[in-house]
Amino acid sequence: MYNKAKSSIVYIPKNLGELFQIYNKFPNALIYAGGTYLLLSQNNRTIKLPSNVISLQRVDEMQKLKRTERFLEIGAAVTINRILEKASGVMPNVLRTALLEISNPAVRNIATIGGNLCVSEKRMNSYPVLFLLDTKLELKRSGQSRWVDIRKFLTEDNRPDIRDGEILTRIRVPFEQWNYQKYYVIGDRSLQSIDYFLFCSLGKIEKEQVSHFKFVLAQGDNNIYRSRTAEDFIVGRKFPLNNREISTLKELFIKDISSEHVIDMAKKDKISNILQSMFLEPYRN
Ligand SMILES: Cc1cc2nc3c(=O)[nH]c(=O)nc-3n(C[C@H](O)[C@H](O)[C@H](O)COP(=O)(O)OP(=O)(O)OC[C@H]3O[C@@H](n4cnc5c(N)ncnc54)[C@H](O)[C@@H]3O)c2cc1C
Repeated sequence: MYNKAKSSIVYIPKNLGELFQIYNKFPNALIYAGGTYLLLSQNNRTIKLPSNVISLQRVDEMQKLKRTERFLEIGAAVTINRILEKASGVMPNVLRTALLEISNPAVRNIATIGGNLCVSEKRMNSYPVLFLLDTKLELKRSGQSRWVDIRKFLTEDNRPDIRDGEILTRIRVPFEQWNYQKYYVIGDRSLQSIDYFLFCSLGKIEKEQVSHFKFVLAQGDNNIYRSRTAEDFIVGRKFPLNNREISTLKELFIKDISSEHVIDMAKKDKISNILQSMFLEPYRN
């Protein structure tokens, strides 16, 4: 059940029962999924970990992928590559794109979806997509579990709302047909950077007319920006939008998010460029 490293004990539970038994005993233990984020800030030859580390890699219940008629359910410790291998045919294109944008195959082989959502300091690739897809998250602690709408997953200071003793165990992605799906990563996506935008949009377009549309922007260490005014502006219009409509849309979006967040001119220009390219590209996936 555990391996003793130099200065830390790494526990490797095989199921949730064992996991919570250990976590109850060592509530300050470090939860270690793939370790790709946890270790990336360590540049020394020897890795420093706290005295108790709990690995999720062997927890059976967290390694499962399940598909029903209504949703795809992913164990939080499933690696990004395994999701891509096993579920590419059923997941929305936009989620596949976001997962493929995570670093390289070697990292994706180890990195987990749960780790991608639970990074505390900033928003990683899957977050805006899962947000727009109305994903539900299961958070468990010993003897209790709760399902949380991903929209309520971040606290006011933009940290994942994982309470004491809790682990993210499952991610449930509902199926819905979207024939407009876009995902962009813009800016400096190097490891330590927070100067980037993750941009995702979903729409339903029937006979060139938009019937549903939603889009969000996640900025580095910030929460999601979403403008209902801009979304409402698009619904009912013919695609592709013309230049005048795109200009109005950009104004609405930037005005809306500027009323809630301080955004400098350079970032406004970047956002404006994203919107411009997003609406100029063909939409069918
Ligand atoms: C070279 C390199 C490039 C990268 N590029 C990208 C990129 O382009 N896009 C991107 O999104 N990410 C990138 N990453 C970051 C990272 O690989 C991913 O975000 C990855 O999905 C994190 O998963 P992990 O399993 O390795 O998490 P870990 O490093 O194990 O954990 C991350 C955090 O989440 C907590 N945690 C993990 N799982 C759970 C759980 N189930 N319940 C509660 N807490 C949990 C851990 O305690 C830790 O605080 C990169 C990493 C590297 C090394």
